[in-house]
Amino acid sequence: MPFNLLEAAGAYVLVRPMNWALRHLDGLSYRLEGTLLRRVLQHTLFPVALIVSLYAGFELAANGVTFNSLLTLVLLPFIKGIMVAPIERLMPFSRKWLEGGNDTSVDLILFMSGAFWNGFGKYLLQVLFILSLIEVLEPYGHGLWPAELPGVAQVFLLILIKDFFRYWLHRAMHEVPFLWRFHAAHHSVERLYWLNGIRSHPVEVVIQVFFYALPFALLQPSAEIVMVAIMMQLCIGAFQHGNIDLKLRFWEHIFSIGDNHRYHHYPNKDVGDSNYGGEFIVWDMLFGTFYNPKNERPSDVIGIGTAPNYPMTVAGLLIAPFLPDQKVFGPDNERTSSDVPPASEPSLRVGEART
Ligand SMILES: [Zn+2]
Repeated sequence: MPFNLLEAAGAYVLVRPMNWALRHLDGLSYRLEGTLLRRVLQHTLFPVALIVSLYAGFELAANGVTFNSLLTLVLLPFIKGIMVAPIERLMPFSRKWLEGGNDTSVDLILFMSGAFWNGFGKYLLQVLFILSLIEVLEPYGHGLWPAELPGVAQVFLLILIKDFFRYWLHRAMHEVPFLWRFHAAHHSVERLYWLNGIRSHPVEVVIQVFFYALPFALLQPSAEIVMVAIMMQLCIGAFQHGNIDLKLRFWEHIFSIGDNHRYHHYPNKDVGDSNYGGEFIVWDMLFGTFYNPKNERPSDVIGIGTAPNYPMTVAGLLIAPFLPDQKVFGPDNERTSSDVPPASEPSLRVGEART
């Protein structure tokens, strides 16, 4: 795919200087290999980040819902990137994933562009939509929400309930061919790294924003709990797409992070149609779509097996769902509902290893 003007400009102005700066860490990265320090970091980075985010979330929420706290929240995806990119460079899961072609440029444009209002726009809209709905419903009381529980329990309960909705939306995006056309934009990535978690088609983003907001608005937890929950989503999200080589075995049975999500991006849909959870992985375990065999390390070859020529420019990604099947997926390779295993017979079971 030839670069178009915007992607080329982005690559020259932002991506190349950023990669040049990050390459300075390569020497240190090789020296870290096999050291005790690296092993300690592999085990501790995720739980420490989880606790720090939780603490920071409550600190932020303690000031209430102000312009500043909302601004901090919507800027967090970017701040997160600035922190995660050097860690990826220091201890990558795959060195092949450290630098892409024009993909960072595309993702940055998607991140910043108003037309493709992902990332920043998505979180802003989500926060504002949820908070305004909560405000509208406020006079009717907090209904079912157990506001007497400790704050931390409320945050994780909220994410767990929201993730139930997210699980089924994500699964439908994979199993319903019409929806897959839009979700495929997210799976077109050929490497997983700090920024490409935000790569989604705007049609999917709109569906997500309103679908995810429903449980928040109906249950009516306090605005502070919603803010901390969003903060936690961002933290867990960093470990979902991040190209960081961590030892997460225990945590991978609770959260949708690390290898769980690498399997989800496999080109072969027999493996890839799994691990749909947004933050938690427990819904996958319950509904039979968890896939993470023991003693196996996922490959770093990812993407859409049936669409090796998926458009990789911003304009291409936007129009891809509306193109004829053969242009994107090849004449005989479009996913059909007959490919989807019947609900009574899940293709994957907890702990089941594939050959
Ligand atoms: Zn997916």
